[in-house]
Amino acid sequence: MLKTHTCGALNLEHIGEAVTLAGWVNRRRDHGGLIFIDLRDRSGVTQVTIDSEQAPAAHSVAVQTRSEYVVQVSGQVAARPEGLRNPNLDTGDIEVIAESVTILNTAKNPPFYISSAADEVDEMLRLKYRYLDIRRPRMTQNLVLRHHIVRFIREYFSARDFIEVETPILLKSTPEGARDFVVPSRLHPGEFYALPQSPQQLKQLLMVAGMERYFQIARCFRDEDLRADRQPEFTQLDLEMSFVDAADIRAIIEALLIELSGAMLPHKRMLTLPFPVISYADAVEYYGIDRPDLRFGQRLFNINDLVSASEFGVFKSAVASGGAVKGVVFPGGNALSRREIDELTDFVKHYGAKGLVWIGVAGEPDASGNYPAASLRSQVTKFLAPAELQGIVARSEARQGDLILIVADKLAVVNQCLANLRLEIGRRANLIDPLLLAYCWVVDFPLLEYNEDEQRWQAVHHPFTSARDEDWEKLESDPGSVLAKAYDVVLNGWEIGGGSIRIHRSDLQDRLFARLGLTSAQTQSQFGHLLEAFQYGAPPHGGIALGIDRLVALFAEATSIRDVIAFPKTAAGTDLMLDSPCPVTDTQLAELSIAVRPPQKQGNSSPLQ
Ligand code: ASP
Repeated sequence: MLKTHTCGALNLEHIGEAVTLAGWVNRRRDHGGLIFIDLRDRSGVTQVTIDSEQAPAAHSVAVQTRSEYVVQVSGQVAARPEGLRNPNLDTGDIEVIAESVTILNTAKNPPFYISSAADEVDEMLRLKYRYLDIRRPRMTQNLVLRHHIVRFIREYFSARDFIEVETPILLKSTPEGARDFVVPSRLHPGEFYALPQSPQQLKQLLMVAGMERYFQIARCFRDEDLRADRQPEFTQLDLEMSFVDAADIRAIIEALLIELSGAMLPHKRMLTLPFPVISYADAVEYYGIDRPDLRFGQRLFNINDLVSASEFGVFKSAVASGGAVKGVVFPGGNALSRREIDELTDFVKHYGAKGLVWIGVAGEPDASGNYPAASLRSQVTKFLAPAELQGIVARSEARQGDLILIVADKLAVVNQCLANLRLEIGRRANLIDPLLLAYCWVVDFPLLEYNEDEQRWQAVHHPFTSARDEDWEKLESDPGSVLAKAYDVVLNGWEIGGGSIRIHRSDLQDRLFARLGLTSAQTQSQFGHLLEAFQYGAPPHGGIALGIDRLVALFAEATSIRDVIAFPKTAAGTDLMLDSPCPVTDTQLAELSIAVRPPQKQGNSSPLQ
């Protein structure tokens, strides 16, 4: 080894030891006869002091070093003089007094300072020079955390009798609702492999194969359009078990997340144990969304029944046309200025609302629980009957000083606006404790949703998910009401994973495919292997997948999943370092029997959105 210690290892216990360090020059300060080099490697930074009188040869080499030069230093560990210690640095009590300095390699001036904070540097530049970006301690720590998380997961499942099985990357189309990446076959001209959107069918086939407990840290590929913070390739913890029901899968994942959170984030606390289990219907009713952030309350409330006969046309017509009137409370919001309320109105308009009704609660209720008219301020008091107004305030459970915010529109618009408004209130009113981890399960999703464009039913999760036993009989007569044996796990408002109990009988799988509008010829060519396998003794089975990138990003408190992936792509799917995708040679195309048509024009939105 070219070093005896890492740059993060030395402390007062090493005083007097002869050591050799090697790393990069983080910073060099030249005080004439004395030069200080902050030497950095993956584990930290150590101050090296080079004195021209004590070590003239070392000094003359140190003079030549620049930022990011690769340097080896031998010397002795000494305590830093009192007053010059740096409590912010693990090695801040000591320094290494150099006896020799060797330049192992020079470096061009880097395009950004390695020591500057991530958000100070243009991300395009960081991605182009990713190898320099990863030298930055924050990025290094993210990758180290990722390693620890993945290792923990592997050990957790290995200790519970799971077997990690690799499934192919060159696969056949595995419909999971996104577009496939396809790979042309040279040996079979005109034919293509597809990269897996997930190992879904293979893990089910492994259950038929009798593996019983499978997991994999699996790379998945989905060719989706530009979407903020998505990657065309991403990593999942993929898992499948036989002879289990939904509660068994949830229990094993819940225990994993509890142990993992405790090990990786010991300073944080989990909101409620066991994780709350919320039905999809309740999640949408009370949070407007199927991935509720439970770090704070502010549940939505519905006032359809109170305003269906209101004089206030906006409310009345929303209810009459099948829409909804729902609201949320901004605690302490009565103190907001008109300008701030206008900002909130613009905020919900961005999500499709036509307006925002507000009622400020300025006073206290009287003995009968009613609020004196003068204590309620609103732009709509004159349109609402006193009883309606009192009813709304009571339903909202607002207190003195609060602001009630109401949206009336189609149900989907109301939910979307209020789900986002609720989060905005959480931020503005400081309701979110940064040390909380609020996990929950969302269950009882609908099995199917109607695709208006294509005029057909499609699977909400994927077409291998089983209906609840009691719901199969409604598959043909009332498909929209069939609930699935599916579950999502949510952390702080982010969906971090989802899965289901699968169909394991070929007759039921056939029935579902028919419901989805697949002809038997299509079913046979796309899923013949699965249907056939189900005829050879398929056990009841189910599984789940957790998104590793998202999980690590949440644990690392990274603002983007790109910050926890070593070599991510931009949101436009490009790799700025390798300059990919890129054309291939004519010879390669000829070997693949492929001719390229002139490319279609693409929009030019920013690749990082
Ligand atoms: N294959 C599913 C997915 O990738 C997860 C599962 O159902 O296990 O989302």
